[in-house]
Amino acid sequence: MNKPAELKLDSVPAWIDGEAVSPSGRSGEVYNPATGQVTKRVPFCDASVIDAAVRSAAAAFPAWRDTPPLRRARVMQEFLSLLKKHQKDLARIVTEEHGKTLPDATGSVQRGIEVVEFACGIPHLLKGEYSENVGTQVDTHTLRQPVGVCVGITPFNFPVMVPLWMFPMAIACGNTFVLKPSEKVPSASVRMAELLKEAGLPDGVLNVVHGDKVAVDSLLTHPLVSAVSFVGSTPIAKYIYETCAKGGKRVQALGGAKNHAVVLPDADLEFAADALIGAAYGSAGERCMAISAVVAVGAAGDPLVKLLEKKAKAIKIGPGDKDGIDMGPLITAEHRAKVLGFVNKGKAEGAKVVLDGSSAGPKEGFFLGTTLFDHVKPGMEVYKNEIFGPVLVVLRTNSLEEAIALVNSNPYANGTAIFTESGGAARRFQNEIQVGMVGINVPIPVPVAFYSFGGWKSSLFGDLHVHGTEAVKFYTRTKAVTTRWPHQDTPAPGFNMPTLG
Ligand code: NAD
Repeated sequence: MNKPAELKLDSVPAWIDGEAVSPSGRSGEVYNPATGQVTKRVPFCDASVIDAAVRSAAAAFPAWRDTPPLRRARVMQEFLSLLKKHQKDLARIVTEEHGKTLPDATGSVQRGIEVVEFACGIPHLLKGEYSENVGTQVDTHTLRQPVGVCVGITPFNFPVMVPLWMFPMAIACGNTFVLKPSEKVPSASVRMAELLKEAGLPDGVLNVVHGDKVAVDSLLTHPLVSAVSFVGSTPIAKYIYETCAKGGKRVQALGGAKNHAVVLPDADLEFAADALIGAAYGSAGERCMAISAVVAVGAAGDPLVKLLEKKAKAIKIGPGDKDGIDMGPLITAEHRAKVLGFVNKGKAEGAKVVLDGSSAGPKEGFFLGTTLFDHVKPGMEVYKNEIFGPVLVVLRTNSLEEAIALVNSNPYANGTAIFTESGGAARRFQNEIQVGMVGINVPIPVPVAFYSFGGWKSSLFGDLHVHGTEAVKFYTRTKAVTTRWPHQDTPAPGFNMPTLG
């Protein structure tokens, strides 16, 4: 490792012990998906670099753990104002490396900033419980203590927001952190580490490493790592969960999705279609909460599909930094080829092609047009798989009951939505649907930072969701203290199971 390194445009540094470093060895390429050009290189950290980052975090832990929560919160407040000041720059980095439009990127940075706002309240959130006289002259109280070195491994589609789901809450709780962002979008994480240092965070409390499976495996098996937060695809989430559980590490692993919107015949179809178009094709469908399947119930089907067709055709595709663009490119040429493969599969397996986006969009870069399939059946590959691209499939059912059964039989269970004007139908839906996040006339029901985010079934392995109070639970351990002071006329504990009374 050459240290210290300059922040060169062509090589994204890692961030270890409060400074930028340039690990040597294997590396990858970072693209601008709108041009298809390589813009930077990113180092793929090996086990020795990962070890250096984890040891830095472990060394910083005792002092940071003992820093009063109020002071930790003040660092978060400074970080919050720096994030607001640099929100546009961060959004620009997101657009450059991911491709999504600048307004969409700015919105995603805003949703991340809101987690930092929540983390500023950490002194209140860490309060324990106290019970006087649980037995005669015996009291019990609980403490919430940090778990140690925590790790975050994040996906390509939210280069700022998803890391911000993790490290602000972990650090505010008194932990130290090693972040491994997606190697496809590595720059924003390093920029946030610089800003946190400027906000007053001691060196070593947040480290950023880069890489692929080699880096991830070194983190998962490192003996000094106590907890791992992961967001990404389902097969990798499952692998992370199993590996961490085997090693005795605390883990939450959020996976992929196939989010359904159920549209009832009584819905305002114009309103529903507008909402669905943004939810399906926004960010080129590369959102874990994207609506990728519409379940049209009864008479809603034909008019809804007509509206969706008209609105999908009107979507403006182009570079995300250009004004007036609705949808940018996909992340890589490989991913574009994979999504195109699903479009071809859908045609071959007999789904009705309403709109074929195979050859739409600019020719340079990784663009793909919008595709809409109707009369899709549950057995088809375009329905069974998370495509993660601008492809929307419509299935038809005869009743709400059938629609609920269809959604509940899908292994993914991240988000879902119902469009209706009937309170009774909506209430039944929210009660019976087996999905972690539910929208009622809200197509992308991403909970705000003071609620928790997470799916069920194959969309989350682990028990606790991210941000909100569930994050406080994940990033702390509860200690229960039972106290009795002697010389107060109560007998000393004897040989029998203490009942305290
Ligand atoms: P991915 O699973 O390919 O990668 C996620 C992270 O895991 C990256 O940091 C990557 O470097 C690492 N990784 C990749 N392959 C690995 C391997 N074999 N072993 C160890 N680590 C590995 O996901 P992605 O393509 O970056 O992101 C898209 C996926 O993320 C979609 O499935 C999407 O639904 C999901 N996602 C889910 C949520 C959620 O909240 N549930 C949020 C955002 C994205």
